[in-house]
Amino acid sequence: ALEQAGRAAERDAIRYEDIGGLSRVLDRVREVVELPLRHPEAFAALGITPPKGVLLVGPPGTGKTLIARAVAAEANAHFILVNGPEIVDRYYGASEQQLRAVFEEARKRAPTIVFIDEIDAIAPKRDALSGEKQVERRIVAQLLTLMDGLAGRGEVVVLAATNLPDSLDPALRRPGRFDREIRIDPPDRQGRREILAVHSRAMPLAPDVDLDAIAEATPGMVGADLAALCREAAMAALARAGALSPGGLAVPVETLSVAAPDFAAARAS
Ligand code: ATP
Repeated sequence: ALEQAGRAAERDAIRYEDIGGLSRVLDRVREVVELPLRHPEAFAALGITPPKGVLLVGPPGTGKTLIARAVAAEANAHFILVNGPEIVDRYYGASEQQLRAVFEEARKRAPTIVFIDEIDAIAPKRDALSGEKQVERRIVAQLLTLMDGLAGRGEVVVLAATNLPDSLDPALRRPGRFDREIRIDPPDRQGRREILAVHSRAMPLAPDVDLDAIAEATPGMVGADLAALCREAAMAALARAGALSPGGLAVPVETLSVAAPDFAAARAS
């Protein structure tokens, strides 16, 4: 599964230009993660150690996974995705075993970015754990051991996503572990505009489509919502062109376009 994830990441490489509305976040990610991966020697020359762990903090669907994939692609680093809830859900000892395998692969294929999605699932505050939460306790201990074992030359960086930084085991936040934090907020109007532009980039848009107006009308939507909105609008355009009717598409494919009413229909659905 790990190898598959790695291969998929290489095939569908995400670039910074695929991410909308997060330019300040990206600047910070580049400084904290990409720079050390690219130029470990510069850090060594200055006598400073690059971060081993960085927390990406923000609500679901705001692009945390996207950022991790993009920085790996742009830094030419190997990428390994670890899903927090999935790793907890293993038979006895298998979670720790998988974490060890992840760090082993990370070291071998360095530079590597290990991305732990929903880390709160595996690393809740230890004193808050009841008896049956022994699994998490062991996984946190294993993760800490593995991170402490990293040489700290920037060759492996662990990014972890959470929406609940305060619910994390404080041991994870100590120096040399996840000691940096980057906040990813839901997009404002301008951010939504940029995200809409990314996701409609490959679409033939009719002249009546006003992305500014759509951005204005979609407060509260995050990147994942806006990506779905664009996809739904294209589906509405297909339906309008008769693609879903028994007779099939009523117009030549090259005349298809996504129009303002399609976005309206997508928002209503
Ligand atoms: P979760 O914590 O639920 O995993 P996340 O913050 O990691 O959420 P992603 O998985 O990165 O969110 O985003 C889901 C999808 O939403 C992406 O694949 C992308 O299509 C779209 N998306 C989210 N944020 C952005 C963004 N800032 N720019 C462009 N697309 C975005």
